[in-house]
Amino acid sequence: MVTTHNLGFPRIGANRELKFALESYWKGQSSRDELKAAGAQLRARHWKDQARLDFVPVGDFAFYDQVLDMSFTLGNLPERVRGFHGDALDNAFRVARGRSAHGAEDHHACRGGVAAGEMTKWFDTNYHYIVPEFDAHTQFSLDPSRLIEQLAQARAAGVNAKPVIIGPVTYLWLGKSKDGSDKLALLPRLLPVYAALLDYFTAQGVEWVQIDEPALVTELDAKWREAFVTAYDALSARRVRLLLATYFGQLQDNLELTCKLPVDGLHIDAINARDEVAQAAAQLPDTAVLSVGAINGRNIWKTDLNAALQWLEPLHRTLGDRLWIAPSCSLLHVPVDLNSEQKLDAEIRSWLAFALQKLDELTVLAGALNNGRASVADALDANAAAIESRRVSPRVHKPAVKAAIARIDTALGQRASAYAQRAEKQAALFDLPAYPTTTIGSFPQTNEIRHARSAFKRGALDQSGYHAAMEREIARAVKEQEALGLDVLVHGEAERNDMVEYFGEQLDGYAFSQFGWVQSYGSRCVKPPILFGDISRPKAMTVEWTRYAQSQTSKPMKGMLTGPVTILNWSFVRDDQPRSVSCHQLALAIRDEVLDLEKAGVRIIQIDEAALREGLPLRRSQWNTYLQWAVESFRIAANGVKDETQIHTHMCYSEFNDIIASIADMDADVITIETSRSDMELLDAFDHFNYPNQIGPGVYDIHSPNIPSEEHIVNLMQKAAERIPAERLWVNPDCGLKTRAWEEVIPALTNMVAAARTLRQRPASRDR
Ligand code: GLN
Ligand code: ZN
Repeated sequence: MVTTHNLGFPRIGANRELKFALESYWKGQSSRDELKAAGAQLRARHWKDQARLDFVPVGDFAFYDQVLDMSFTLGNLPERVRGFHGDALDNAFRVARGRSAHGAEDHHACRGGVAAGEMTKWFDTNYHYIVPEFDAHTQFSLDPSRLIEQLAQARAAGVNAKPVIIGPVTYLWLGKSKDGSDKLALLPRLLPVYAALLDYFTAQGVEWVQIDEPALVTELDAKWREAFVTAYDALSARRVRLLLATYFGQLQDNLELTCKLPVDGLHIDAINARDEVAQAAAQLPDTAVLSVGAINGRNIWKTDLNAALQWLEPLHRTLGDRLWIAPSCSLLHVPVDLNSEQKLDAEIRSWLAFALQKLDELTVLAGALNNGRASVADALDANAAAIESRRVSPRVHKPAVKAAIARIDTALGQRASAYAQRAEKQAALFDLPAYPTTTIGSFPQTNEIRHARSAFKRGALDQSGYHAAMEREIARAVKEQEALGLDVLVHGEAERNDMVEYFGEQLDGYAFSQFGWVQSYGSRCVKPPILFGDISRPKAMTVEWTRYAQSQTSKPMKGMLTGPVTILNWSFVRDDQPRSVSCHQLALAIRDEVLDLEKAGVRIIQIDEAALREGLPLRRSQWNTYLQWAVESFRIAANGVKDETQIHTHMCYSEFNDIIASIADMDADVITIETSRSDMELLDAFDHFNYPNQIGPGVYDIHSPNIPSEEHIVNLMQKAAERIPAERLWVNPDCGLKTRAWEEVIPALTNMVAAARTLRQRPASRDR
């Protein structure tokens, strides 16, 4: 008999119940007990949903973040919150957010908030975890209370519980040493705590523990590989059985090592590492279980069950009871229930599977393996019909788009002239002062904007009423910018609630769910649009708004677009063609828009690639391939314009030293980037790399309510001018202003414009 299990379930709730419970607690509108009850209710519901599986994950639930919870289990609290004697949950919130509830107990006990923990991306997903903090003195001590409590609840709920923990090596790998000391030196201190935790589970009569070590799919040096050996040797005296879980990629050169670790079972992501399944089956000791992740835990597509059975059946014959099946990774990264979607087009819906439907698929696979395909013939036939309908659907496959993709050649992404010639023509045309000022695109999303949008969606405001309301906002943004004295203006993006959704909604090949929420961090969720078919642009998407904005001013108006790579990286994408092909299709659609803007007289066009870095593969050895098609896609979108048209791009992250050559390769005339938080440290990259084009290092940290002073901005820009010739510098905030209020934006931009004027009067500090 094959065993079914799941690695983790989305905890946010089908209706984002956890989000609302958290936010109400944080606002002081509900009690801690109410919040805890909401969590218990969600867990109970999710266990019930998974009850048909042979093993159900426990401990995958977190109020804020599972890595943060693990830090608490291991007694690894940052120094700054150790004196806190309140509830552990409140303390976890203090680490995560810098404060716990509305702040009451913080004020008494700790005089205000504390610094929030650093957040970073969980492997190559869009989920963000709270980074564990270490220093040379870090000590660990076990607090199993959360896990023991949830274990008891799971058993009371009648499921066969399998506790899930993050393994010791990955835990260290995920963290950050605050004092530069070697994290791995902590392993000997950490292992006894893990051993004690496993003893707890033994004492509770637990049969299997899932221990996640996704670090094994990354490139590890000898020291880290050795750490795996040390760690699992140290845990080999345990009595409970360990299923070592890897996911998000291939094990490659770590495969042999992994198969030799003294554990009782191994989980492999068979979506990313199908080829390694047979190797693992051959290399594992013949007492060990092999769990294969045969259903994609990262996307929303139905699995081709018959195709999966084609390789699972022989594997089952070889492994017998040692074969387990599961989704490839935790289902944290997919929405909960497709059945909530009442508005989604029925045909597209028939191609999809959210978390609950993926568990249905798992059950069908198990039925077929255990009792033969005939026993689940109806389910398999229905699945085959859905797969076939998607495979041949004319809504997915557009010959014209495929033909356009086939015609792509390098010339398409090539500007007519090199930067230097373009810059000359553009300078003559725009006649901008030195240190020109601009913004990144969005201006505050005011209550009026939100009200107009929701009234329009409800049907309380008609198309022309909505249009007029947006034009009023655009006119206002233009007027404010003129009063501020900015040099290159923007329309303010009032009509966009999201920089990807806005374009997705107007492109052919995109669908939108109503409840397809996925946790991004804490209570924050995103609803990625679903890219299901070949992409095309039926008509211009931004031209009318930009033209209207330009009509309100004689200053140059920047057209604002989201780039193909960012649209791709923030969507659920197709699994029936490479990401690069979908990206090229998006690039052609954005290119059409760029050319239409140019035709409409827009001389400066910004194409945001906020998420370009997010798409980097986990393994560095695969970076180049990604960067090549990503940069090519941007170039296709941007570079069809005349020399006189100035292309800007924007990226909002502070680390790009390692990809700066690719960014230069995009060949945008101007790039604006985040730097203000790092005090221009990021410009260190320019010491070693001579960035050829113009650059606007952000001087106003829009993530903070602080208003930067004129002097501060002048200082930052002078630091920048030490690395980049002053005549190639722009002055701008480090991202869009939509989350700020006009009352903050006006004084900040006033200082920014004043700083630029001051700078113009000073001689440039260095020429290069
Ligand atoms: N143009 C967008 C804005 O200003 C860019 C947002 C982003 O980079 N995340 O809002
Ligand atoms: Zn940004």
